[in-house]
Amino acid sequence: MMIVPPGGTIGILGGGQLGRMLATAAAELGFDVHVFTPESDSPAARVAARTTVASYDDAAALAAFAAAVDVVTFEFESVPHRAAEILREAGAVLRPQASAFAVARNRLAEKRFFNAVGIETAAFAPIGAETLDLALAAVGLPAIIKTAEDGYDGKGQARVASREEAEAAIARLGPGPLIIEAFCQFEREISIVAARGEDGAFVAFEPGENRHEAGILSTTIVPARISPEIAAKARAHVSALMEALAYVGVLAVEFFVMPDGRLLGNEMAPRVHNSGHWTQDAASVSQFELQIRAAAGWPLPAPERFADVEMRNLLGEDAALWRSFAADPKARLHLYGKREARTGRKMGHVTLLKATKDREVR
Ligand code: AMP
Repeated sequence: MMIVPPGGTIGILGGGQLGRMLATAAAELGFDVHVFTPESDSPAARVAARTTVASYDDAAALAAFAAAVDVVTFEFESVPHRAAEILREAGAVLRPQASAFAVARNRLAEKRFFNAVGIETAAFAPIGAETLDLALAAVGLPAIIKTAEDGYDGKGQARVASREEAEAAIARLGPGPLIIEAFCQFEREISIVAARGEDGAFVAFEPGENRHEAGILSTTIVPARISPEIAAKARAHVSALMEALAYVGVLAVEFFVMPDGRLLGNEMAPRVHNSGHWTQDAASVSQFELQIRAAAGWPLPAPERFADVEMRNLLGEDAALWRSFAADPKARLHLYGKREARTGRKMGHVTLLKATKDREVR
């Protein structure tokens, strides 16, 4: 297995806040970071040793980047297939390997994959104007129609309660591939963030309980209010899924917890995840450090949690709350350095430490 020692260079594709927090974690371990992003003045570039600003279809820039780094990792999953291919052809080691993105990028492929590795999902079907009746018969109403690709943070979705509403949603969300899912009256939403090494080592954080507003994550609390059995089942699901993908790096899976205790897989993200941000402040190792360790071929320590936490996203104008959080000794503030606070834009987050867990003294 290729190991990158301290002093080596970690390449990060993507310049957003996840890249910024990955870069900071890498710097803590003595690495240099080289960011590749089409965005000038990006959040990640401002904490990295080097940045290439070029488009993801700039073959020459990608090849030069591949030659300048020891390993390439990613902060987002919609990496163009061709960009990953160019990096590989130029001799870059990709961790995770780009094949995992294909599954995560398409909601149909993702749900079929979940089912194939034993993770139950809401009933789902591909849907289009011609397949409407078939799809409705398979899934029932109410339901949610989503774009199968390119949807994020609740964008590209419509809740439908009738055939007419389904027709209107197809007209609005199409013409790309669409999926219809049964609407789940879940008890709560949880997610697991886990890491896997190239040697097959697997570690996971405890599940977080997530609340969304308008499709965007607003808070994560840990521990989630679920039984140890459900937590263990979610962990086993994620382990099986990462094993099946031979995945290297950090990956998150979101589940719906149903009133009868069933766990339904909703989606996965082959990267560090917003619901894992609390790990920076209340765990022995953060999700960002685990991703860098997996990329560098370092050992993956099992994370321990030190406190109960609530992570709150600071969206858009919430960023102005920084003064009150800055004065709160139980609040750990993280701001992403974005220049402009547009509505709904992720500007930062704050981790509120709720209580220190009693720890066994040995
Ligand atoms: P997604 O983009 O699939 O993560 O959806 C965003 C949010 O919409 C989820 O976190 C849920 O709160 C809600 N949602 C998505 N799919 C369903 C579903 N099938 N049933 C009920 N709520 C859903």
